[in-house]
Amino acid sequence: MTNLPVTLADIEQAARRIEGRILRTPFVLSASLSERCGVPVGLKLEHHQTTGSFKLRGATNAVLSLSPEERARGVVAASTGNHGRALAHAAKAEGSVATICMSRLVPENKVAEIRRLGASVRIVGRSQDEAQVEVDRLMAEDGLVMVPPFDNPAVVAGQGTLGLEIVEAMPDVATVLVPLSGGGLAAGVAAAVKGRLPKARVIGLTMQRGAAMKASLDAGRPVQVEEVASLADSLGGGIGLDNAVTFRMCRDLLDEVVLLSEAEIAAGMRHAYTQEREVIEGGAAVGIAALLSGRLGKLDGPVAVIFSGRNVDMGLHQRVINGEADPFAEDAA
Ligand SMILES: *Cc1c(COP(=O)(O)O)cnc(C)c1O
Repeated sequence: MTNLPVTLADIEQAARRIEGRILRTPFVLSASLSERCGVPVGLKLEHHQTTGSFKLRGATNAVLSLSPEERARGVVAASTGNHGRALAHAAKAEGSVATICMSRLVPENKVAEIRRLGASVRIVGRSQDEAQVEVDRLMAEDGLVMVPPFDNPAVVAGQGTLGLEIVEAMPDVATVLVPLSGGGLAAGVAAAVKGRLPKARVIGLTMQRGAAMKASLDAGRPVQVEEVASLADSLGGGIGLDNAVTFRMCRDLLDEVVLLSEAEIAAGMRHAYTQEREVIEGGAAVGIAALLSGRLGKLDGPVAVIFSGRNVDMGLHQRVINGEADPFAEDAA
C-alpha cells in the first residue's frame, strides 16, 4: 500500500487543510438496518455536506493545494453534476473563480444553480465531449487549471477524509460500503480506513448499468462502457482510458465490487426516506440497496454505509417513494 499514489499521510494532511471549510457530517446508528442485518449499521450522512455531496471535500483540497498564482488564474471543469457544484463553491470560498463548461443540452435549472454558486459558465457544443474541448482550450490559452472529478491525487485525498471521520465515529468498523463510479471516493475512503484499520473490508457498490470501474477491474485495465440512463445518475460515466490514480487504488484496495439493479436502488431510496427520514439521490442509495438485497451475504460488523449525496430532482424522488414504475426500470430501457 505504500507505493499507491495517495497514502494515509496525504489524507491526514488533507483533513487538516480542509478543516473548518467543510462540514463534519453526522454519523448515526440505523435501528432498522442494525436489526435487519444482525450487526450494528451506521450511516455517514454526507448528503448533508455543503453543496449536497462529498465532492466538496476533494474540490476544496484540490483548490487549496494550488499555488496562489494558479488559484488566481482560476480553475475549470466540464462537470454539470455534483463535482461542478462543489468546484464552483470551493473556488469562490478560496477567492478563486471556477469556469464550468457545459453543453447546450444541459437543463436551465442546472446552469442557474452552478451560476448561483459563483461560477462562470461556458455553454459550448452539444455534448460533454465538446464541453471538454473548451476545457482543454481554456487550459492551453488562458492558463486555467483543470480540477477533474476523481482521477487526481488531491481530489482522492480530500474524499478520503470521509473515511477518517467514519473510523473516528466507529473505531471498530469492520465493513465499509462505498458508492463507486470513477473511484475517487472509494479509493480515498479505502486508503483512509485500511490505513487506520488494516483488517477492515471496503466494498464498492454501483449500478448494473454501465459500471465502468467494474468492467475495468474485470478486464485488468481501464475500458470504456456504453452509458445508459440510471436512477444512480451520479455513478454514470467512464473512468478515463488514461486513468492514472483511481483504477490502481480501487484494484489494490477494494475487497469486492457489487452491482445493483434499478429496482434495488429505488428500494434503497425508499428505505432511506421512510425508515431513516433522509432524502438521498440514487447514487447514494446503493449501500442500503446492497444491504436490503441480500447480495452481500454474511457481513462482518459493525458496518458503515455512506450516503454520498442528495441532489435528486424532487419530482423523480417522489415518484420513486410512491413506488410508481421505476423510471429506468430494466424492462423500460
Ligand atoms: C460522484 C459521486 C459518487 C461517485 O464518486 P466517484 O469518486 O466518482 O466514484 C457517488 N455518489 C455521489 C452522490 C456522487 O456525486
